[in-house]
Amino acid sequence: MHHYIIMGPQGSGKGTQARRLAADLGIVAISMGEILRGHMANNSPIGQRIRHHMETGQLVTDEIVDQVITDRLRQPDVAKGFVLDGFPRTPGQAEFFLTHHRLDAAILLEVSEETLRKRILGRRLCDGCGKDFNVYFRPPKVEDVCDLCGGKLSARTDDTPEGIRQRLSDYRSKTQPVVDMLRQKGLVLTIPAESHPDEVHKQVLRSIGVE
Ligand code: AMP
Repeated sequence: MHHYIIMGPQGSGKGTQARRLAADLGIVAISMGEILRGHMANNSPIGQRIRHHMETGQLVTDEIVDQVITDRLRQPDVAKGFVLDGFPRTPGQAEFFLTHHRLDAAILLEVSEETLRKRILGRRLCDGCGKDFNVYFRPPKVEDVCDLCGGKLSARTDDTPEGIRQRLSDYRSKTQPVVDMLRQKGLVLTIPAESHPDEVHKQVLRSIGVE
């Protein structure tokens, strides 16, 4: 059973690396942001409670995300293990997680702020199939149209300069203490993550002893 967390600021490539690591290990990648966006899209009771926070790039309350992760980690597909992306993001969430689950390692992706801004501001997601593009690094063949399904590409509503400022500031004040706490427990593996996703992926595998 593998239990991993991928950590790093928004735009560090957590989602991509979580999915690739999970695929290689035959386990599930769980993105807290994706689950929460699903609640908003369905306008569920949780979706209604989190909409304002999500749209302005603020963190949703610990109480809600702790409940969401508890429900998700009860599903049968996590039996072989999981890679978490975007949880835990506060010391409260980390304590909650560690009292209920064993953790093998937190993989920390390190990227400069300049690269983070370009990755986030350039990010576009397909409304149809969810495929992600970046207008600076991985543009679609036709502007605003998905290469795979022809769907319309949109920026996330929280990918604005103000949303980014808010999220980077939350990362420094709320998530960095989680990194520090896990580092003290000897659980953090730091990976330089500026290079191509394939190279970063190789380093992630090497760091956990899988090659
Ligand atoms: P992400 O897709 O990881 O960038 O997350 C998008 C948004 O979802 C964040 O800006 C928060 O509003 C919310 N969110 C995701 N994960 C968490 C979390 N662990 N705690 C609180 N809010 C979260």
